[in-house]
Amino acid sequence: MKETTLAHIAQVVRGSLRSLAPKPENRRINQLSIDSRTMVNTERGLFVALRGERHNGHDYIDSLYHRGLRNFLVSEEINSNNYPEAAFLEVANTLSALQDLAAAHRAKHSCPVLAITGSNGKTIIKEWLYSLLHTELNTIRSPRSYNSQVGVPLSVFNMREEHQLAIIEAGISKAGEMNALQHIIAPNYGIISNIGEAHQANFANRKQKIDEKLKLFDTCQQVIYCADHSELASAIEAKFAPQKHYSWSAHHKKGASLQLHYEQQHTHTLIHYQTSKAAGSVRIPFVGQASLENASHALAFILSRGWMKPTVQSAFEHLQPVAMRLEISSGINHCQLINDYYNSDFNSLEIALQFQANHASSSKQQAALIISDMEQAECTDQQLAKRLSKLLRPYQLSKLVLIGTRLSAHHSCFPTQAECYHSTDEFLAQFQSSNYRNLNILLKGARSFQFERIAAVLQKKYHQTQLEVNLHAMVENLNYYKSLLQPKVKTMVMVKAFSYGTGSVEVAKALSYQQVDYLAVAVADEGVELRQAGVETPIIVMNPEHHSFELMMEHRLEPNIYSLPLFRSFQQAAQRLAVHQYPIHLKLETGMHRLGFSEEEELQEALQLLLADDSLRILSCFSHLAVSDNPQEDQYTHQQHDRFLALSNIVQQAQPQAMRHLLNSAGIERFPNYQHDMVRLGIGLYAGPQFAPIETAQENLVVARWTSLVSQVKTVAAGSSIGYGRVGQAVHDMQIAVIPVGYADGFDRRLSNGIGKVWIEGKEYPVVGNICMDMCMIDITGASISPGTPVELMGEHISLQQLAQQIGTISYEVLTGISQRVRRVYVQE
Ligand SMILES: *Cc1c(COP(=O)(O)O)cnc(C)c1O
Repeated sequence: MKETTLAHIAQVVRGSLRSLAPKPENRRINQLSIDSRTMVNTERGLFVALRGERHNGHDYIDSLYHRGLRNFLVSEEINSNNYPEAAFLEVANTLSALQDLAAAHRAKHSCPVLAITGSNGKTIIKEWLYSLLHTELNTIRSPRSYNSQVGVPLSVFNMREEHQLAIIEAGISKAGEMNALQHIIAPNYGIISNIGEAHQANFANRKQKIDEKLKLFDTCQQVIYCADHSELASAIEAKFAPQKHYSWSAHHKKGASLQLHYEQQHTHTLIHYQTSKAAGSVRIPFVGQASLENASHALAFILSRGWMKPTVQSAFEHLQPVAMRLEISSGINHCQLINDYYNSDFNSLEIALQFQANHASSSKQQAALIISDMEQAECTDQQLAKRLSKLLRPYQLSKLVLIGTRLSAHHSCFPTQAECYHSTDEFLAQFQSSNYRNLNILLKGARSFQFERIAAVLQKKYHQTQLEVNLHAMVENLNYYKSLLQPKVKTMVMVKAFSYGTGSVEVAKALSYQQVDYLAVAVADEGVELRQAGVETPIIVMNPEHHSFELMMEHRLEPNIYSLPLFRSFQQAAQRLAVHQYPIHLKLETGMHRLGFSEEEELQEALQLLLADDSLRILSCFSHLAVSDNPQEDQYTHQQHDRFLALSNIVQQAQPQAMRHLLNSAGIERFPNYQHDMVRLGIGLYAGPQFAPIETAQENLVVARWTSLVSQVKTVAAGSSIGYGRVGQAVHDMQIAVIPVGYADGFDRRLSNGIGKVWIEGKEYPVVGNICMDMCMIDITGASISPGTPVELMGEHISLQQLAQQIGTISYEVLTGISQRVRRVYVQE
C-alpha cells in the first residue's frame, strides 16, 4: 500500500492512538497485515488484530512485539506498560476499521472496477478475464480467491494509480454481508455467475440469497448475467433499470443482449456470438458445461465493453485451467518441494514465499526459489527484475534460480547470487541432483515454462498412489471442535501414529501455527522429530520408555505417567539430571482398564514422593472414556466421570494447579459439561465431526484423499478368471482397469470381490477378484477409461466411513493402515 501516517489511518478509522513512546501519530505505515506470519516489514507495518469466532489476532501481539513489530490496530484493551515502544490504535471493531480503510483507498482511485459474485466459477472467470485482458489493459485482480469480508479489503489495497481495470471477487456466506463488500468495492460493472446450492444453509431461501448478492451491483452501470438462469434473470430485471442489463443466452432466450451457440470440436469448443452490433466466434480449449458457462461470462463482459480485438480473440484459444493451490511434497536428497500451480504474478508470489517460510519440514532446510520470467508485460525487463529483487529481500533465500531471458539479463539486481538459464530445457540439460540437498524449494513458473518438468526431476520417486492431506480442511475441523468449547478450555491434539496416518511434521506444524495448546505423540522419538522440525508447542508422550527419559528432558517432552513404578523411575531420572519442576501428566484409570492409577493408595504414594522433593510437577491429570461415542452406554460414561472427579480431587489436594481433562473427539461433541481444563482431539480432526448433522459439517471438506492412477486397461474374455485364487470370474467379456494399489498399501484385502468400490471419472466401479499385494483390478465394463486416468480410493465420493463400514472396522484403522510407502502430499487452498 501507499505510505501514510498513523495519524491519517486513525482519522479514517475514527480510532484513538495510545502509546508510551513519543509522537506515535508521525509513524509511517506502508504495510498492513492480518496474518502474523506475513509481517516481514516490521518498522512500517501495522498489524490488524482481527477477532474471528474461533481465532483472535490479539493473541499474537506479544510474539509480534518481541519480533520487533511496533504498530497494532486493536479492539481489546492491551496493557501498554508491557510494550513501551508500541503504538496501539484502538477501535471498536477491527474488521470494520480494515474495511473502512479499504473503502477509503478505493475511493481515491478512478480506475474502473469489475466485481464478480455468484456461487460457482467466480475465481475462474476472474482469472480468465485477467489472462484475456492484461496485455491490453494494466489490470489488477484479487489474489487467489480472496473474496471474503477480509479478503476483499486486502484485494482492494493492491489498487494503484497506474491500473486501468481492477477485477475483484466478492463472496458471501450469510445474509447482511454484501453491504460491506459493496461499500468497499463500489464496482462500475458486475458479473453474477450463477446461484448454486453452496452456503444455502445460512439463508432463509434462494430468493433471499439472490437479493443479498445483487446488493453488490447498486452502483454498477452494467450487470452481466445469464438469461437462461430464469430465476436469477427475473430478479435482476425486476431490480435494475433496463439500461443496466447485459445478458447472454445459449438457448435463444428472447431479449438477451448476446446470443451464443456452442460448437464442440473434439477437445475444443467454438463459441459463436451475435449481438445487435457484431457477430463472430472465439475458440476455447475446453468442452465441459462449467467451462463454457465461465467463458461465456468472460466473453459477455468483453463484448459489453467493446474490447474484442484480434489479440483478445486469440487469447481465448490459450485459456488454461485454473488451479488454486500450493502443494507440498518430498523431494530428492531431503529436499521439500512447494509447487505453486497458481499463475505467476507478484501477489501470488508473495503469498507463496510466506507460506514457504512457515513450512520448512526441518530446521536444517534452507529456502530456495526457482522462478521463471513473469507474466507482467507492462514493465521493462529491468523494472521486472528490480521489483522482484525488492520483493525477495526480506526472505532468506540460500539459492535463487532464474529461468527465462528477461530475468537472466538482469541477474545482478538480486541480493542472492543467482543461477541463470534461458529456458527450462537449458535448466534440465545442466541439472545435477547433488546441487539440491536439504532445501525447501519453491517452484514458481509461468505456464509456458512448464515447471512440471522441473518438479519431475526434483520429486522423490514413488509409485502413483498418494494420500493428499488438505491442511485447510483440517483447520476447519479444528475450528469446529474449538467452537464447542467454553472459553479458556485448552485443546490437546493427538498426533500419535503419524497423526492418524496423515503425517507428523507437516500436520504438527499446521497445528502449532493454529496455537493448539498441546500435541500428543505415542513415543519419544516422534516428539524429538517434531522438535527438530522447529515445533515449539508443548508435547506430551503417551508411552514414555525408560531408555528415552533423558532424551525427553533434553527436548522438553512431557511424559504421561501411568503407574507408580514409572513415576519412581522418571523421578529418579529427573533427580539424576538435576532438573526442577519438570512437568508430568498423571493418567487415572476410571473404566478403560488399560493404563493408569486406579487405587487411591497407589496415587497417594506417588503424590508423597512428588512432594518430597522439587524435581517434578504435575501439570495435568486425565482419564480416557471407553464409550463416549455410544449413547446407550452413557451411564458408564457418567460413572467414569464420577470416578475421575474422585481421583483428580486427590491429585489437586497435592498439586492445586494441576489441570484436568477427560474428553476425546466424540466426548467433546456429546458431553459439554465434562470439558474441565482441556480436551483431547483425535479422530475428529482427521475424519471430521463424528455426530454433527450434515448441514453443519462444513461443506463436505475432506482431510484425506487417497488416489491413484489407472496403470493398464484390458479386456478379459467371457469365461476367464481374474487374479489369485480365480475368485474373480468374467461372466461376460469384461473390461478391467489395473491400479497400482494393494493390501501392502493398506487397501484392505477384505475389499476384494466387489465389496470395495473406487471412483473414476464421476462413477463408482467395483473391485473384481482378490486384491493383490501391490495392485488390484477394477471392473470398468462399458466405460471408456484410459491408462493414466485418476482414481479415487477414498475422498469426497468414497468416504472414509464407507470404507471402514465395508470391512467392518472403524475409520481409525483404515486411516492409520494406509502404508508409509503411499506418498503424502499436503495441499493448502
Ligand atoms: C488417542 C487418544 C485420544 C483421542 O481419541 P479420539 O477418539 O481419536 O478423539 C484421546 N485421549 C487419549 C488418551 C488417547 O490415547
